[in-house]
Formats: sequence, C-alpha cells, structure tokens
Amino acid sequence: MGISKQDDGTYKVDSESSKGKFYTVDLNRMTCTCPHFRTRLQRIHGMCKHMEAVKDKFEGRDSESYENIIAYVKSKWEVDSIELIKKFSEEAVDDLISRGELIEYRGKIRILS
Ligand SMILES: [Zn+2]
Repeated sequence: MGISKQDDGTYKVDSESSKGKFYTVDLNRMTCTCPHFRTRLQRIHGMCKHMEAVKDKFEGRDSESYENIIAYVKSKWEVDSIELIKKFSEEAVDDLISRGELIEYRGKIRILS
C-alpha cells in the first residue's frame, strides 16, 4: 500500500481496489476518508486498514508512547478506556493491559498499584 505524508500532517494512502484513487488518513483526529471507516468504523472508534497501515509504517510501537500512556493515566488516576484508546492507540493500550501495567475494569483504565 503506497503511503505518503502530506504537508498538513495527514497521510495519503492509495486505494488497493481502485487504481489512482486514494484516501486521506488523519491520525491526530483518527479519521480516514474511505467508505468503510465513514460508514461503520467511525461510530465505534475503529481503525480501518489504511489507518493501521499508516500507524505501522510511521508510528510503530515505541516505548515513548507507552510511557506517555502510563503518565497520562497516572495523572488522571482513572481514565475512560474509549478516551485513552482515542488519545493513544488501541494496540498500545491493549498491550499494556496484557502486560499487566494497566488494568481495565468496567470501561475504566487504571494503573495497577
Ligand atoms: Zn480507510
């Protein structure tokens, strides 16, 4: 999948199904202009394959963002899980939960203390 960063900080991702067509991914707002995202995923704060591809290519799993997540949860004591996933990434949050650094209980996330 061809991905290129644009001047405004969004990413242009080539459509796999139709040549010459592309979608715009905005990771700050967590949006994509593809129909699958707009019709289904947006409501449930999901990520389409274009957003996943941009994240994989440009963000990766860096320890800095993990530290940022933990610092953020610490500063708030308890954070709504949807809010945390929207602010950071679902993958990183899930990973921290599976590693036991965060706990999720009834839709809230806390630091394991
Ligand atoms: Zn998309």
